[in-house]
Amino acid sequence: MAIEDLISSVPTGLWIGGEERQAASTFNVLDPSDDQVLATVADATAADAVAALDAACAVQAEWAATAPRKRGEILRAVFEKITERADDIAALMTLEMGKVLAESKGEVAYGAEFFRWFSEEAVRIAGRFTPAPAGTGRILVTKQAVGPCYAITPWNFPLAMGTRKMGPAFAAGCTMIVKPAQETPLTMLLLAKLMDEAGLPKGVLSVLPTSNPGPVSAALIDDGRLRKLTFTGSTGVGKALVKQSADKLLRTSMELGGNAPFIVFDDADIDAAVEGAILAKMRNGGEACTAANRFHVANSVREEFTDKLVKRMSEFTLGKGIDPASTLGPLINSKQVATVTELVSDAVSKGATVAVGGVAPGGPGNFYPATVLSDVPADARILREEVFGPVAPITGFDTEDEGVAAANDTEYGLAAYVYTQSLDRALRVAEGIESGMVGINRGVISDAAAPFGGIKESGFGREGGSEGIEEYLDTKYIALTN
Ligand code: NAD
Repeated sequence: MAIEDLISSVPTGLWIGGEERQAASTFNVLDPSDDQVLATVADATAADAVAALDAACAVQAEWAATAPRKRGEILRAVFEKITERADDIAALMTLEMGKVLAESKGEVAYGAEFFRWFSEEAVRIAGRFTPAPAGTGRILVTKQAVGPCYAITPWNFPLAMGTRKMGPAFAAGCTMIVKPAQETPLTMLLLAKLMDEAGLPKGVLSVLPTSNPGPVSAALIDDGRLRKLTFTGSTGVGKALVKQSADKLLRTSMELGGNAPFIVFDDADIDAAVEGAILAKMRNGGEACTAANRFHVANSVREEFTDKLVKRMSEFTLGKGIDPASTLGPLINSKQVATVTELVSDAVSKGATVAVGGVAPGGPGNFYPATVLSDVPADARILREEVFGPVAPITGFDTEDEGVAAANDTEYGLAAYVYTQSLDRALRVAEGIESGMVGINRGVISDAAAPFGGIKESGFGREGGSEGIEEYLDTKYIALTN
């Protein structure tokens, strides 16, 4: 579809109760590759949020009572619909988020998979029935849909961060209001329209774009009818939302920031480690919570790893994501370019060396090149803060214990990557790393069939796998007499 036709096919109103509604005001969505206005969308208010919750509550009981097989079939139809429209969704995502088309296509496939996986999980919600040990009765345990949910999603994966929540919620029989990030609302609005076409009953999903997330979120969190808040975004905002949701003791899931270590041991296959490093660092242009944030490399192989990584990082072609020749798109906005620039200068001022990249080319657009920093000292901020950009800082270690200790020296605990050819060491280190997920000799770990999530200040709750649906189910115990 031509770009103008694609953009004009996206609903730009609020999506409430399966219909588009206009709002009193609007805000602009920008293309990060040139900062030009792509579209103008409705700006939801607190009153609109209450209207979306009214719509959710009106159909919640009926949706929860819909046969699991039927719910599964609707989710499967959504998967087919997204797959059919993959090229359009990918192009739209690239336009509003910046990542290159190949990355967007990968996200469409990954994002759609949550509907396929959870279409299969909808029919496997089970409880148990056991005799009470004292012989005085029977214990019946059932699972029930939590009820209306509110999902807040970030801009870095405009489709998948939503579908990872919607798939399990709808499979479990919950309704959901999604508030996409203000930078990237178009993908979610198009998805809402496609889900309607695929047969999702009206009211089960509402989408509220807004430039003012605080009041919209507070209206929902403070409304006693809401039962769950599921958030993906920064640790700071996540903490504030957990505090806010304490008043109503809402169930919460928090998928927060990361600071993933990528550890290369002296017995690693260095070529494989470099390829894994490219995936772990450069997927989504480095703007991923799972992105390798720092490279801890055994000193005996550090020079070889650095040289080979520099060579591979030099091969990226920076350019507009929509141009098929580009292999690295822009960052989301100028603020992000400034953050990355500041982290690089801090490291350099403390003794790090720029081995490749390291200078933003300047506007138009928010570009930053693929960069490798070598000899990064332990006190550099870049080893402690989320980079969210295409910069690979390398630091060395001597013993296995030192490598693991350095990897764990962070308040985050989302993902970690380990390269070694020893199975014993791989398992020992994976068990010793404080993170929710560990990739062994691989640079990408996300899979709809696996439980994604963090520990420590990376949050709690799991998305995907058979664990994912539990986040949207309450356990009920029914006591029976003999
Ligand atoms: P962010 O926290 O700034 O924003 C995330 C969402 O929260 C957006 O929709 C935003 O509008 C909303 N928001 C902001 N302030 C709010 C408030 N006061 N009340 C309610 N909602 C509010 O994060 P971001 O910059 O969009 O995304 C990047 C962050 O997300 C990174 O830290 C990254 O690691 C994290 N992330 C985590 C995962 C994960 O699964 N753990 C996945 C992707 C991104």
